[in-house]
Order: sequence, then C-alpha cells, then structure tokens
Amino acid sequence: MQAQAPQRKTGLTRRGQSAVMPDAKGDAMAKDYKQLTCRDAGYECDFLVRAETEDEVMEVAGGHAGRIHGMANIPPEAAEQIKKLIKTVQV
Ligand SMILES: [Zn+2]
Repeated sequence: MQAQAPQRKTGLTRRGQSAVMPDAKGDAMAKDYKQLTCRDAGYECDFLVRAETEDEVMEVAGGHAGRIHGMANIPPEAAEQIKKLIKTVQV
C-alpha cells in the first residue's frame, strides 16, 4: 500500500543486481514514524505531518488545523477520531 512514490525506481539495474536494499531484516536505518495527512481527515489539503510519537503529530496537526482550518480548539472526541487516522510508516 504505497500512497506516495517519492522516487521512481526501475525494476532492473544494468548488471541485473538488485539496487534495492533488503528490508526484511537488518533494517537498522528504517525507522517507524507516525504520520497523518489532512486528506486522511477529510480535508482538501496537502498537509502532512510525520513525527516520532502520536502526541507530536497531534500537536503539529492541531497547530495546522488552527492556523489553516480555523479550528481553534479540537474537541477531545474529535481528537480521538483523528488519532485513529494516524498511520505508522517506515522512513
Ligand atoms: Zn490541512
């Protein structure tokens, strides 16, 4: 499930070797992040926040919602709903 394709990859390298690093194990460089987009929350907006914790995501998203969407306060029940939209991604 890839919502975004940051880089185009060709399937084959010239020598037929894999240019893609294996990610099954030994992925010391991969790291889990929490991610939320406005589109996930139903807004026509390209805002995306990625942080190490859900709390950070909510903090940043809350600031964005206030500045951009005029939501000065997000009710706790709405915040709970939004938290469910947070995805874990590996970067
Ligand atoms: Zn937005």
